Amino acid sequence: MNLAGGRQVVPAGSGTGLRLRRGERLRVIDPEGGQSGDLVAYAADGSERLSNGRTFDYGGKIFLSTGDVLWSDRSNPMLTIVADDVGRHDFLYASCSLEMYRKQYAVTGYHPNCHDNLLAALRELGLDPGPLPTAFNFFMNVEVAADGRLSFAPPLSRAGDAFVVRAEMDLAIALSACPTSTCNGGAPPRPLAFEVLPG
Ligand SMILES: [Zn+2]
Repeated sequence: MNLAGGRQVVPAGSGTGLRLRRGERLRVIDPEGGQSGDLVAYAADGSERLSNGRTFDYGGKIFLSTGDVLWSDRSNPMLTIVADDVGRHDFLYASCSLEMYRKQYAVTGYHPNCHDNLLAALRELGLDPGPLPTAFNFFMNVEVAADGRLSFAPPLSRAGDAFVVRAEMDLAIALSACPTSTCNGGAPPRPLAFEVLPG
């Protein structure tokens, strides 16, 4: 969905794909506030994929914000965070999936999920994505206790908050507006938005 000024909406619970040229920037916006989403990046030809493990290797931390780099599984920089209104994102959790909704939420039929949204978006870009890497779960607010236990808190993003990443190589990107209410303060799924800015 195109809006004035090049801003595009990712409807609640759904996903979309886009391509970035090296040097272009992607601005991802939480229009209503309190909504998390998933981002995965592949090299334009599919030969490299986003890697949380390599990002932890080279960055030395699990919480990323302005100035931090997201690395590929071939140890090349993919994206640099160049602006961040929120400052808290998760890069530990796997994307929500149909199996997760069945095991943890007793869902019996289909349930929209980031895993399927991201794979579909990548296929629409012409890629054969294979198994999905761990997504950058932007705005998702995960607490890590001293004993390693994980817990969720509502996203810190307020209406209009955004982050900006700069492409360090030509990329295929998939975004999903996460339909899991537990990651989003218990609220029903809300949309996200994005815009591509020139390099
Ligand atoms: Zn999700």
